[in-house]
Amino acid sequence: MGKKSTLSFLPLRGMVLFPNNGAHIDIGRDKSVAALEECLAHGRQIMLSVQKDVEVEDPKREDVYEIGTVCQVQHVTKLNNGIMRAQIEGLYRARILDFRDDGLFIEVDVEEIEEDKTDTKEIQALIRACISKFEDWVKLSHKIPPEVMIAVNVAMDDGGILCNVVTNHLNCKYQDKQEILGIVDLKSRLEALYKLLLQEVEIMELENKIVFDVNKQMNKIQKEYYLREQIKAINKELGEDDEIAEAIEEYRQKMKEHTYPEYVTEALEKELKRLERTNPASPEMGVIQNYIEWVLDLPWDIENQETIDVKEAQKTLDKHHYGLTKVKERIIEYLSIKALSPDIKAPIVCLVGPPGVGKTSIATSIAQALKRKFVRASLGGVRDEAEIRGHRRTYVGAMPGRIIEGIKNAGSKDPLFLLDEVDKMASDYRGDPVSALLEVLDPEQNSTFSDHYIGLAFDLSKVMWIITANDLGNIPRPLRDRMEIIMLPSYTEVEKMHIAKEHLLDKVKKANGLKKSQVNMSDEVISKIIEDYTREAGVRELERQLSKACRKAAYKIVTEKKKSVRITKKNITDFLGKAKYTETKAEKENQVGLCTGLAWTEVGGVILPVEVAVLKGKGNLLLTGQLGDVMKESGRAALTCIRARSEKLKIDEKFYEENDIHVHFPEGAVPKDGPSAGITMTTAIVSALTGKKVRADVAMTGEITLRGKVLPIGGLKEKSLAAYREGIYTVIMPKANERDLDEIAPEVKAKMKFIPVETIDEVLKVALVD
Ligand code: ADP
Repeated sequence: MGKKSTLSFLPLRGMVLFPNNGAHIDIGRDKSVAALEECLAHGRQIMLSVQKDVEVEDPKREDVYEIGTVCQVQHVTKLNNGIMRAQIEGLYRARILDFRDDGLFIEVDVEEIEEDKTDTKEIQALIRACISKFEDWVKLSHKIPPEVMIAVNVAMDDGGILCNVVTNHLNCKYQDKQEILGIVDLKSRLEALYKLLLQEVEIMELENKIVFDVNKQMNKIQKEYYLREQIKAINKELGEDDEIAEAIEEYRQKMKEHTYPEYVTEALEKELKRLERTNPASPEMGVIQNYIEWVLDLPWDIENQETIDVKEAQKTLDKHHYGLTKVKERIIEYLSIKALSPDIKAPIVCLVGPPGVGKTSIATSIAQALKRKFVRASLGGVRDEAEIRGHRRTYVGAMPGRIIEGIKNAGSKDPLFLLDEVDKMASDYRGDPVSALLEVLDPEQNSTFSDHYIGLAFDLSKVMWIITANDLGNIPRPLRDRMEIIMLPSYTEVEKMHIAKEHLLDKVKKANGLKKSQVNMSDEVISKIIEDYTREAGVRELERQLSKACRKAAYKIVTEKKKSVRITKKNITDFLGKAKYTETKAEKENQVGLCTGLAWTEVGGVILPVEVAVLKGKGNLLLTGQLGDVMKESGRAALTCIRARSEKLKIDEKFYEENDIHVHFPEGAVPKDGPSAGITMTTAIVSALTGKKVRADVAMTGEITLRGKVLPIGGLKEKSLAAYREGIYTVIMPKANERDLDEIAPEVKAKMKFIPVETIDEVLKVALVD
């Protein structure tokens, strides 16, 4: 039987104290404080036992475990909040026999548990097994100081002490610890301890694995963070840190200011990270920054919500441009449709006409009328796909293409985009710009247009495209099919007069800092400028001449201190110098072998003289003057046609065998191709062979067949204006072109005589003089 004693009692919450171990315990409950004081007052030991339920405030006998530990109080400190902190030492295990609560504190009668000192081989084996498991546990736990192992090894001979020391260190539940405390039989106790150790080692292994996995992840993040900090530190040393940090900060700020599509934000983030990692001295830095800035600056989310006021738009268009009714009409129609159904896609309009007829400027006023931003890009000379779609970023000096560049300049995703000179585009081995352009214009594809440089889909579907060209024939076919062609023809003198008076004059005065009243110019003078100082399809040169006159006028006003200047027919040379075009190119006299044709070129209609000489020879036909293939064939056809009707024309049938015929087009600079010079060549050759003169006041155009039929041609309006400008008022033309006469301005028609013909005989009848 063990020793019995009466001791004051401390109920413990959630912790088990073992003999052979010391601990700090904080005591707060009144009864516990009183029990402690009682024990101190009598220099006694104290009995500790664990509550079965930590929640219980005032435990009764059944609320605490029967077996606890008798302890020695070594030291007590009073903490501020009335709590006592006691340093205690566990002495031996004891069983509670009696439990008395007098309301002040609890007192117990206890009986010491005599330790089982059995020492069999089995016990030895169990002890070793427990120590070895505990060693495993210590290794895994990392928290236990190595000295503990020394203490444990000392307890090798005493299984009871071993159980006390080892269990005390484990982090297991207090119930498990209490179990070890409560078992009296040593073998059972060691077995229970071994089981507990097994379980704890397993848990610890699992815990370590979890910690390891999490750490691995964390380490990667930390490593990156660490490296980045290092780069920052290096950059700071080199003084380059601030600049980059500032730039990055600026980019981030910008990203907050706009809404970018998610894929754009992701791409930007990626680049910003790259930027942070990149050495500021490396050339890549600039490349990345350049890219980021491009992407940031694109108007991903900016649109000018159109407010459509059709009447207002009509006014704007009329205000800036004289005539051009077809274009204006088409635009107003489109606006009306758009007002009804806002989602309608803008048409792709292609304005075709000679230079200076207002293609660009009408596009600008359309933009103004629609309140859209205006941008333009020239396609002239574009032969590389990359100019449209950009270079891939892997190229040194890569840049976005002209489309994305234009959009960036516009600063909104729905500008009016003018693509100039589409007819001057060419394709070569570097890829086909036409197909790239097709993709840009195709409403099915352009909502996800991807520039090679930017590499992110940009929505071009809201852009309104206007395209210009000088020559319809040179527009690549697939493009032409997709566009709505509007022709802008050359202006007549009368139209030019209107444009000059109503638009250009005020514009150039303003541009030269002059008030309207400061320069006076009569209609007569303007007319003279149009006739003698310019010769063009459009009004660009006219605008330049008017501007030149205004500059001179401004100079006179300032230097001669005049209030205003009057420009008259007499003093015009003071302003513009000598007239440039007093002489027309038209021949004054009827001549043999010289006939005036009419041609259509990119810059409008021109007159095209043909010379023919017949020389002794062997029947060769010589064609000179920079001719295209079609023109050469046309020359041969003319000759055959003449041979076929030599009898009728009273030409020696053998003329062909004994002579060489040389046909020459003296206007070397005018590109010449097409069949429309057929009747001109025929007439000139017949004239040369027969010696009959050709009328100098007649111009002609028409294709010829071998049988002498005259076939229709294009561009009659332009051609007849050219004749008119050069002072030739009779035009021979194919009968099939008669319906084109409706398009010719009334003032031109009134002055000119058009002779429609079906056969070459009719042509010769009119053109040759006996
Ligand atoms: P294009 O693009 O066809 O070569 P521009 O648009 O550059 O021609 O026109 C040249 C100049 O002529 C511009 O100043 C323009 O304002 C003026 N202009 C052309 N046509 C007209 C017109 N119908 N009314 C008023 N000004 C015009």
